[in-house]
Amino acid sequence: MAFNANTLRDDFPILSLEANGHPLTYLDNAATTQKPQAVLNALMDYYTRSNANVHRGAHFLSDRATAHFEHAREQVARFIHAPQNSHVIWTKGATESINLVAHGLEWCIKPDDEILITSLEHHANLVPWQQLAFRTGARLRVLPLTSKGEWEPEYRHYFNAKTRIFACTHISNAIGVKTPLKEMLAAAQSVNAFTLVDGAQAVAHHVIDVADLDCDFYVFSGHKMYGPTGIGVLYGKQHALDVLTPMQTGGEMVRHVTHNSTEFNILPYRLEAGTPHIEGVIGLAAACKYLSSQDRQAMLEWEHKLARYVYDELKFDTRIEIYSPASDTSIVSLSVPGIHTLDLNGYLDSQGIAVRAGSHCAHPLMAQLGVSSTLRASFACYNTLSEARRFCDVLLEAIEILGDD
Ligand code: PMP
Repeated sequence: MAFNANTLRDDFPILSLEANGHPLTYLDNAATTQKPQAVLNALMDYYTRSNANVHRGAHFLSDRATAHFEHAREQVARFIHAPQNSHVIWTKGATESINLVAHGLEWCIKPDDEILITSLEHHANLVPWQQLAFRTGARLRVLPLTSKGEWEPEYRHYFNAKTRIFACTHISNAIGVKTPLKEMLAAAQSVNAFTLVDGAQAVAHHVIDVADLDCDFYVFSGHKMYGPTGIGVLYGKQHALDVLTPMQTGGEMVRHVTHNSTEFNILPYRLEAGTPHIEGVIGLAAACKYLSSQDRQAMLEWEHKLARYVYDELKFDTRIEIYSPASDTSIVSLSVPGIHTLDLNGYLDSQGIAVRAGSHCAHPLMAQLGVSSTLRASFACYNTLSEARRFCDVLLEAIEILGDD
């Protein structure tokens, strides 16, 4: 299972494109990853050979589609080490998963209860909790993590008898730091709070073991781990999923309906109203299979090596501020005081390099860093050292050209 990014690139047809007359250098993987042929084939195969609605029909194609659909659930459950397939709920993505939990737990939140998040959250793991707090009279509290992802032990007092929910990111999408997850989850569990981990930026890189993490909920999106858009996962422990009020009601999630009452279905269907994103589910399972067929540790080390290379190349340049950690990350987020990140982004784009300039859906974190935006290069398994080198060269070229204005 030797890992070689150059060979692996061949699995991703889009990477051979040109962009603005240059070979495409795709370094916007934290926004979304490209899809391997295996995933594209799975989607095509589904529509060519298995398309029908699931769970409903009693005919050949419907049975086949249902079998693929439920087998996919099994594959995804195995991928994240979920103890039971029914603990995997299909959603549109991490955002919908978090909203589902924020709505589903509303019944048990009282005025003066506390909902705790960290200062590193993506808006997807902030706004749903903030709005839940507005609706219920609960208090949203923010555990201050440093931009290095560190917390001081005295911050443990943020976890108290009023803490009902603790929601935190596994890895920051904006700057790439990992949170001290296990310690924080233990602190939340010691006060009996529900725990939710936003794994949107972790699943593509780290082997996820929800049983080992022991969180109540773990959420992620398929498109950030080489799968399709529009499909995501809400993993939950049995007791945690059991107490969620469904955010959506309708077909599929019911057992028996009269005009006066509804008997809800069992998990996982109770939380999956309407026709699901069947091909998305099948594509996501193909992405899990693709990742599982790789040497995940070697892949992770490679991605970290690329980010480390960029970090080391740029760290002594006094014109550049880097916000990401030196190691153990696949993201390099930076700014060049005096030059707008959008201008840097524009120059890089003109040279075929795709990165992301902006606030990365993390306004409070940007405020903590004292900037309105950063330029983010984010690496995936198919990126090469020559791409990392090219990013550095073209960035320095951009600084020379734009800095003179
Ligand atoms: N959390 C994090 C850390 C993210 O990076 C993202 C996507 N940028 C999300 C949540 C939301 O994911 P989606 O837009 O796929 O729902």
